[in-house]
Amino acid sequence: MSSQNPVFIPGPTNIPEVLRRACDIPTMDHRSAAFPPLFERAKSGVKRVLKMDEGEVILFPASGTGGWEAAVTNTLSPGDKVLAARHGMFSMKWIDLCQRHRLDVEIVTCPWGEGAPVERFAEILAADTAHEIKAVLVTHNETATGVVSDVAGVRRALDAAQHPALLMVDGVSSIGSMDFRMTEWGVDLAVAGSQKGFMLPVGLAIVGVSPKALAAMEGATLSRCFFDFRDMLKLGTPYTPAVGLLNGLGAACDMLLEEGLDNVFARHHRIAEGVRKAVVGWGLRPCAVAPALYSNSVTAIVLPEGIDGNALCRHAADAYGVAFGAGLGEVAGKVFRIGHLGMLTDVLALSGIAAAEMAMADMGVPVTLGSGVAAAQAHYRATKTDPVRAAA
Ligand SMILES: *Cc1c(COP(=O)(O)O)cnc(C)c1O
Repeated sequence: MSSQNPVFIPGPTNIPEVLRRACDIPTMDHRSAAFPPLFERAKSGVKRVLKMDEGEVILFPASGTGGWEAAVTNTLSPGDKVLAARHGMFSMKWIDLCQRHRLDVEIVTCPWGEGAPVERFAEILAADTAHEIKAVLVTHNETATGVVSDVAGVRRALDAAQHPALLMVDGVSSIGSMDFRMTEWGVDLAVAGSQKGFMLPVGLAIVGVSPKALAAMEGATLSRCFFDFRDMLKLGTPYTPAVGLLNGLGAACDMLLEEGLDNVFARHHRIAEGVRKAVVGWGLRPCAVAPALYSNSVTAIVLPEGIDGNALCRHAADAYGVAFGAGLGEVAGKVFRIGHLGMLTDVLALSGIAAAEMAMADMGVPVTLGSGVAAAQAHYRATKTDPVRAAA
């Protein structure tokens, strides 16, 4: 691998130089007066990125998986029923985590490539008049398949059934890259990690907690210690916080908010569209089964029969020093993934598209060199907001 090349995996993402420097600070005593402003800046930045008008942001030294565990263990009790769809590696692993915590998961199995089944959820919630379901889990962006799910739709399904279940959302690979509205969508627990849309090294689990989830916390009896929200809320830092990462998180939020969240989302959409045009140019198709499901942070590309996606990724790393995401779980070997979230620009994306094209040609995928690049170039040229051309 070359340390010169950007990565095209859907996390960890490329780290902007300014954020690397923000994480690299001298040792600070977190009990000193210097820490609270740094901590507050990170938390208030996250609140704005999550679009939270109320509730709390809780930050753990952990990865996104820790955020899943924190969300579940702080608000539920052993044996509680939760509703979740299994349609990719990450939704599957979150279900596994719930089961290991002895929750009773009602699993809706969907083909990989589809999103959360909003209509099926609506039926199940409407039928659950005894309100046995305590939480509904949604993986906003299924990173294994490049599929985005309709969180607002799940909220509407809950509201239509007048169902009081908590809405828990895994936004690890969507938050900071794609539209997310915690308060407006009535999300009770939103989970993110530092190493995807926030463009930082791995090491922080970021959890948005609604007032309703805070109320549920009081009665929840699943065991928790390291991830106990109550200690976090009472003490702020019950143990040593990841001070450098928290400083980076404050800077990352400022960076996103300075660009403007709508502009950040539009940039991700535009870059993703270029990647998707390239996929069409190659004569291939995304794993996501319908355009409405296309993720703006990662595209999983279905390879022709007989081509091993894992071998393709290894070859891209060995021959060109560039990282793409291998297929996971059910689609292992059948797809490869181009991550296009975080600090990417169209220029960086073009280098990834060109490298993918070379690697595929080497491995015997029948792609015409230049076909994907040209399709992406045409898209990027046509959609460039060019101050010179705009003024002319
Ligand atoms: C990356 C990812 C996770 C897991 O996060 P870790 O930081 O690796 O623990 C969970 N969910 C989704 C959707 C992800 O993309």
